Amino acid sequence: MIIVLRRDATEAQIAHLVETIQAWGLTTHLSRGTERTIIGVIGDERTIRSKPLEAIPGVESVMAVLKPYKLASLEFQPEKTRIQIPPVKPGGEPVEIGGPSVVVVAGPCSVESRDMLFDMAALVQKAGARLLRAGAFKPRTSPYAFQGLGVEGLRYLAEVRAELGLPIVTEVMDTRDVEMVAEVADVLQIGARNMQNFNLLRAVGRCRKPVLIKRGLSGTIEELLMSAEYVLNEGNRQVILCERGIRTFERATRNTLDISAVPVIRRESHLPVLVDPSHGTGIWSLVSPMALAAVAAGADGVMVEVHPNPEQALSDGPQALLPKTFEKMMSELGAVARAVGRTL
Ligand code: PEP
Ligand code: MN
Repeated sequence: MIIVLRRDATEAQIAHLVETIQAWGLTTHLSRGTERTIIGVIGDERTIRSKPLEAIPGVESVMAVLKPYKLASLEFQPEKTRIQIPPVKPGGEPVEIGGPSVVVVAGPCSVESRDMLFDMAALVQKAGARLLRAGAFKPRTSPYAFQGLGVEGLRYLAEVRAELGLPIVTEVMDTRDVEMVAEVADVLQIGARNMQNFNLLRAVGRCRKPVLIKRGLSGTIEELLMSAEYVLNEGNRQVILCERGIRTFERATRNTLDISAVPVIRRESHLPVLVDPSHGTGIWSLVSPMALAAVAAGADGVMVEVHPNPEQALSDGPQALLPKTFEKMMSELGAVARAVGRTL
């Protein structure tokens, strides 16, 4: 951290500042220039980031040198995190996220009925998806919209999982439900609207299940990594990040899918990253092209919504792929994965 002092900072103010920083357990390096005096703070500045340095007389500005996240950073762990999801059935294949293989997570937005969930799960599994997605608890903008089947939906997910041996990604919205959802889910999803629900992040951090954190609608990449830091800091090292589009001035799409988040995260963090082009665009015809772009950009996988009859969907119909479009996307995705040295 570098502290730039005001031109008129007095010797007494400088001495007080140095003393204060040292009392916080860090050392200082004073550099007197012809124009300005600056103080280099030596030590882990993250421990004093929340201190009100700018409030100390004589301070003009404070510049951070280190990233605010630590456990999520590449400096802390240079090798990529690979998350192993154990096989659901004995003798089955584990699923690895963050390894050489690109992983597809697919399924309906919501668990709508037992039959529909079974049909979609069997279909996406046959087409090559390695995980099933479907929400039992749905974070809806309107309280009048379908809120998900809740516990009943979770029960259907458990049945499908056991029957097909397909691991499940599903959202947990409430700290009180974490244990219950973790009993069924292979991966706990933290929705975009809960990216900064710190109690929820801490609760899933105490769980031993992998956690998928979706980027908030107005979340910066740094904030997404800080959310991961909450989970990691509780001792759960199995964190997957998910770019799902952010809110911008653009109205042609539901959200603006930030594909550049993929190489940025790759540069900063060892954590695997998925892309959700369904919520990222909100328009089914844009889902396949953006899924291909995500894999080309280095994503470890994609998460897409599939529905047998999008016009009857209880949530997110306009962005749902029909089964045949999903199957076509899967074959195209294989070609892109191979082109960038990966497999599907
Ligand atoms: C979802 O994946 O079902 C979902 C609600 O996504 P998001 O939190 O990204 O809006
Ligand atoms: Mn959805």
